[in-house]
Amino acid sequence: MDDRVLVVGGGIAGLAVARALHRHGIPTVVSERLASPPHQGLAVNLPGNAVHALTALGMADDLTGLGVPIRRREYRNARGRLLFSVNESEFWGEAATPRCVRRSDLIDRLGRGLPAGTVRPDCQVTSVRPTSLGVEVGLAGAATESHPFVVGADGVRSTVRRAVSGEKALGTALLSAASWRFMAPNPGVDCWTVWSGAQGTFLLIPVDAHEVYGYASATRGGPVDADPEWLRASFARFPDPVPHVLTTVLAETSSLYHSPVEEVRIGRWTQGRVVLIGDAAHATAPVWAQGAALAVEDALVLAELLATHQDWSQIGPEYERRRRPRVTHVQAMTDRFSRAAGLPTWFRDAILPFVGPRSYRETYRPLQPPVVA
Ligand SMILES: Cc1cc2nc3c(=O)[nH]c(=O)nc-3n(C[C@H](O)[C@H](O)[C@H](O)COP(=O)(O)OP(=O)(O)OC[C@H]3O[C@@H](n4cnc5c(N)ncnc54)[C@H](O)[C@@H]3O)c2cc1C
Repeated sequence: MDDRVLVVGGGIAGLAVARALHRHGIPTVVSERLASPPHQGLAVNLPGNAVHALTALGMADDLTGLGVPIRRREYRNARGRLLFSVNESEFWGEAATPRCVRRSDLIDRLGRGLPAGTVRPDCQVTSVRPTSLGVEVGLAGAATESHPFVVGADGVRSTVRRAVSGEKALGTALLSAASWRFMAPNPGVDCWTVWSGAQGTFLLIPVDAHEVYGYASATRGGPVDADPEWLRASFARFPDPVPHVLTTVLAETSSLYHSPVEEVRIGRWTQGRVVLIGDAAHATAPVWAQGAALAVEDALVLAELLATHQDWSQIGPEYERRRRPRVTHVQAMTDRFSRAAGLPTWFRDAILPFVGPRSYRETYRPLQPPVVA
């Protein structure tokens, strides 16, 4: 038996839990199927509770060097009219002001806090089987190994999930079945800005003075064509800077990424000494940008439970008791926003100035208290 905790997946969730376990002195190894981190993630918007969670992981100094603080959000309609805005620094407080960071930078900084050799790249887990003493794990092209505990941080299409839940896990997001993401030269955008029309939503977030992170999807569910021309057809008549940014990214389509927006909603995240965290447990459409936040919060709570309990086969129910309420809240608010986005445009534009700020507060206020001291 290898006495280290095995973390399957070296994304944000996997590296965060490895870091949290290391801080508690619990030996850990991470198996990542890829030989090197993918570039496809582009950037990630970190709301205040993500900043809190990363700070609890000892990353406050790392964060101040990454991306830019996002002090304000603006929601605009397809003609550019400002429907409402939110002062995010005021809402979250200076120490937890949201940030938009390059995903590769975040992965790099998370990994730097780990002892050398913690991450085994090019190491795909193919099976996970709980036994009476621990967990038997199959690796691609290698013999089986045993660990006292396995954390499934292997993302939306998790292999570990099969050992935990027999349920059909993958569903399509209400808001949009797929999305486009890209990085582009910053056209002068200095805050989180979304333009939303009948066919689509177009979001730009600065990662610094020179570059913006862009996200585009449908607003009323259904498919988003994998041909980049869908972007031109859906957004060319939006106000500047949208057409300007589109011209740049459509001239170099290799910088554009199309991917499905899939969700995981399952009734069980644990099975004995196997626990799911992050997207493997609860991938949710990025409406409120809670993926990284919830993943790091899961990691902090799970590591604390492993550090404070002798019998690791018994911590699953306590982990679910502490994590379910926040995740269920985010899922509910995601559905509420997605339904509102699908209302007739004239009606949505009329009510958003009133219900928008309230919806922001009702989503994020319950997430303001940090999950660990
Ligand atoms: C379009 C879009 C936009 C988003 N925007 C935001 C945002 O702005 N803010 C935010 O917080 N969240 C956002 N998210 C969600 C966010 O990306 C994730 O929730 C977050 O990255 C947590 O991911 P994870 O580590 O759980 O999974 P992943 O990032 O998927 O990492 C899983 C890792 O496991 C590895 N792996 C998979 N299978 C195996 C295996 N069998 N063996 C070994 N390794 C394996 C994978 O290679 C990968 O490295 C967005 C998601 C989408 C789809």
